[in-house]
Amino acid sequence: MSTLVFYSEFDSFEEWSALLAPRLPGVTICRAETVQNPDEVHYALAWKPPHGFFAPYRHLKLLVNLGAGVDSLVGRDDLPPVPIVRLSDPDMARMMAGYVLFAVLRYARDIPAFERAQREQRWHYLHPRSSSGIRVGVLGLGELGAYTARELARQGFDVRGWSRTPKAIDGIHCRSGLASLNDFLSQSDILVVMLPLTPQTAGLLSADRLSRLPCGAAFINVSRGAIVDQAALTAALRSGQIAQATLDVFEREPLPPGDPLWRMDNVLITPHLASVAIPASAAQQVADNIQRAARGEPVTGQVFPARGY
Ligand code: NDP
Repeated sequence: MSTLVFYSEFDSFEEWSALLAPRLPGVTICRAETVQNPDEVHYALAWKPPHGFFAPYRHLKLLVNLGAGVDSLVGRDDLPPVPIVRLSDPDMARMMAGYVLFAVLRYARDIPAFERAQREQRWHYLHPRSSSGIRVGVLGLGELGAYTARELARQGFDVRGWSRTPKAIDGIHCRSGLASLNDFLSQSDILVVMLPLTPQTAGLLSADRLSRLPCGAAFINVSRGAIVDQAALTAALRSGQIAQATLDVFEREPLPPGDPLWRMDNVLITPHLASVAIPASAAQQVADNIQRAARGEPVTGQVFPARGY
């Protein structure tokens, strides 16, 4: 007998177990508090479990992170010595791309200016710009970043992407490595941050790096707040060096009441929901990985703690 233990304060156990049970015959799916025999727990499906969570499960074979971002997991000192996989779900990527497309198009079509004009009952004609003349820089070309970059390219934007290792993606001008970052930033009229939070990316977008953006650039962060120096970003938004920002993630979440970002007209704030795990579309991939692990085969979507993502 095998057991899959589930932990999340955000996701529905009932929904996940109803989707996984028919796909995993012979596997008991339960919450930690109802595990009968910890030695039979071979699989964990978890989002931000408490410290020490894995200790009783000495025969674990696979840990599935219930999300795409693994920064809260990979730095822990209590990780079991088993493969860790993340959710890789096209619907999750589509949801993320939809959010970023909305934010980019909102700036590309000058919608904030029309929102302001409407509040003032003012007819304010701004001649539309062609998307091909707008340079959109996407930092991070992973599962979500590459999907989003392609969707932006389909809309005709001049899309550039930046990653750690070299990439070749049709229709996207790809750069890689830290040495090219300042140049990349200087050519991004709209910057979209889609990097994972790792020791290398924490604080990457410092005051100096933000100052490399073209004056009046727009800034979109859908990855993790700690990648950006939030005080420097706030100052740049105040001075107009960065004209607009759409922020889904913050150094501290929830963004504390009284934070100056709340009251800035040129900032759109959403509460960390650009994309979420979608059980109906992700369940098959989770079940496939569990079956691969059961057969001793390599899993897909593996995360490497030493790399940080
Ligand atoms: P992936 O892990 O698939 O890809 C990460 C990308 O970032 C890769 O292209 C990688 O380069 C690049 N990268 C990593 N480290 C560096 C570095 N030091 N320098 C340059 N590039 C680097 O991530 P996803 O696309 O799936 O997701 C991105 C992030 O989105 C997640 O880590 C998570 O934090 C966030 N997220 C946010 C959500 C929200 O609702 N706001 C929801 C889901 C995820 P390479 O290709 O060379 O490996």
